[in-house]
Amino acid sequence: MLSQVTYENACLSCGACCAYYRVSFYWAEGEQIPEHLVEPITPVYSCMRGTNQTQPRCQALEGTPGEQVSCSIYSMRSSSCQEVQAGDSQCNKARSAHGMIPLINIEPQVINDESYDQVS
Ligand code: SF4
Ligand code: SF4
Repeated sequence: MLSQVTYENACLSCGACCAYYRVSFYWAEGEQIPEHLVEPITPVYSCMRGTNQTQPRCQALEGTPGEQVSCSIYSMRSSSCQEVQAGDSQCNKARSAHGMIPLINIEPQVINDESYDQVS
């Protein structure tokens, strides 16, 4: 499968998850987000405005998905936003829906240890 190794700033040229899922959270989390960006869903849950529709796109997302994006409320984003990690299953589902190749996480490997000769 064609894939791309996760890199530190992968999200800055992606934004797929912000334009794929309904981004909902417990209503109290919305208290820290600008009011015009929050849409109540039920008495208990709210979501990011723009994500509760057939073709979701969070209104806090700036730029063009797949090219260059940023989150205008990054430091205030909800726990739901923070849960999605580059290279996880939710990430790659959203990327696939946007025609982007999946990301894979590569565990750092120990390339030397005490059983090898050390440079002194
Ligand atoms: S889909 Fe993945 S890579 Fe793209 S913005 Fe979301 S977490 Fe980042
Ligand atoms: S608040 Fe930011 S991180 Fe969360 S969905 Fe919107 S643009 Fe993406």
